[in-house]
Amino acid sequence: MLKLYNTLTHRKQAFKPISDSRVGMYACGITAYYLAHIGNLRKYVNDDVLRRILQHRGYAVEHVQNITDVGHLASDADEGEDKLRLEADKEHKSMRDIAAFYTNIFLKDFRLINILPPSRMPKASENVEEMLDLIRKLDEKGYLYKTEDGVYFDTSKFKDYGRLTGMGFRQLNESLKAGARVELIKGKRNITDFAVWRLATSHMTEMVWGSPWGKGYPGWHIECSAMSMKYLGKHYDIHTGGVDHIQVHHTNEIAQSEAATGEKVVNYWFHGEFLIVADQKMSKSLRNIYTLQDIIEKGYPPLALRLFYLSGHYRQQLNFTLEALTNAANTLRGTHLFMQRLNEVKSTAKNEDSSEFRKRIAAHKKAFFKALDDDINMPHALAELHAIISVTNSREAEGKLNKSEARSVTRTMLELDEILGLDFDKYANAKKEPLAVEVEKLIQEREDARKAKDFQRADEIRRILKETYHIVLEDTRDGVKWRVE
Ligand code: AMP
Ligand code: ZN
Repeated sequence: MLKLYNTLTHRKQAFKPISDSRVGMYACGITAYYLAHIGNLRKYVNDDVLRRILQHRGYAVEHVQNITDVGHLASDADEGEDKLRLEADKEHKSMRDIAAFYTNIFLKDFRLINILPPSRMPKASENVEEMLDLIRKLDEKGYLYKTEDGVYFDTSKFKDYGRLTGMGFRQLNESLKAGARVELIKGKRNITDFAVWRLATSHMTEMVWGSPWGKGYPGWHIECSAMSMKYLGKHYDIHTGGVDHIQVHHTNEIAQSEAATGEKVVNYWFHGEFLIVADQKMSKSLRNIYTLQDIIEKGYPPLALRLFYLSGHYRQQLNFTLEALTNAANTLRGTHLFMQRLNEVKSTAKNEDSSEFRKRIAAHKKAFFKALDDDINMPHALAELHAIISVTNSREAEGKLNKSEARSVTRTMLELDEILGLDFDKYANAKKEPLAVEVEKLIQEREDARKAKDFQRADEIRRILKETYHIVLEDTRDGVKWRVE
């Protein structure tokens, strides 16, 4: 049984979808005005792993991830100017061009780290009618009021406002007031109130629409409410996001959607923690960001980043260091070489203890999926993956691994990779890849050291190969042989 931590109930809960066969999942998507950094990408990998787990359990997942191309203001507290409009002005381009440019880069990054493409990626600017319909409903029910700059949602009128944060309306307002650095926006009744529609100023020509309240553009929160319910219905299974969205964006989504329909909108709220650098959130404003391109330029394969993300639990902060990324790159390479070596097993010996070996592999596979069922305990699941590799390597070292066993391990590894997304399939049938140049060089250097009787250096190289590359050397009569462990 899959258990997930639900931010709404503040505890782990068994996952039961509304329909037996289908899961509706809405993921807050990109605001397409900048290059994604690897903190942002962690969030999308979290979503991707959840989706793969659900698919592995046989559900058809309708994964909707929006593209925000208008309405997301510079501050998440819904103040300042539209991020896309600002960027368009700065670059002297249209908002549409800015959105198209950055969306393409995002999607390329997603492909490079094996994030499955969402089933739908609706753009905010193409769903404004639905947003206006929702605003109309809220207006009819008396939740809205007009100010000089827009139409606001009165959060004091929504019963249970703030439920997601564990605080009620009053407590949330008081805590925000205590920490407020800015004056309440003119005309706003409560500090938690937010705009569902913003009025355009005269210089705005692009991305503005007519409405009963005047020419303007939608607020960021109403976009997600309207798009999620348009594609998944007014009551759906899962909504995902980063932890920074709990207090404002998702709290406001719940208020609008539920005020409009009178029904609970989402059963499970799934939030991922931050990627941090030296104890601080990786973010553009702190100037401590790396993009995927930076990582690639430093010589790391993109999937090393994916494996690095998987090394932490999604609900815990993960500290980014190049050292940790190097470890992930080495581990990734070790798994790929392992997949290749499984192809090369030739022995057809009939092993009497084959069923014992297969049982051990099956037990680790079961433990892998059981760990994932426990609120996606990926670090534990990865330990099971490594146990499979190590048990198989020991058997090979004993000279026992036969072809049929190797095939069965390959199948198991490929099944685990349906969740991990680390390209094991590309190596399963591949010819042996030439050793990385640096490894070849090290092996040669060790040979030279041995010939020169510099055994200290030879031993040191043996250790580096083992610890960094998981390569174990054996000196045989036919020369030096290597295997991956
Ligand atoms: P933003 O552009 O800041 O709204 O972020 C887009 C998405 O990335 C949101 O879902 C954030 O929760 C998430 N995000 C931003 N920074 C980080 C970070 N350092 N670690 C993990 N997720 C992040
Ligand atoms: Zn959203």
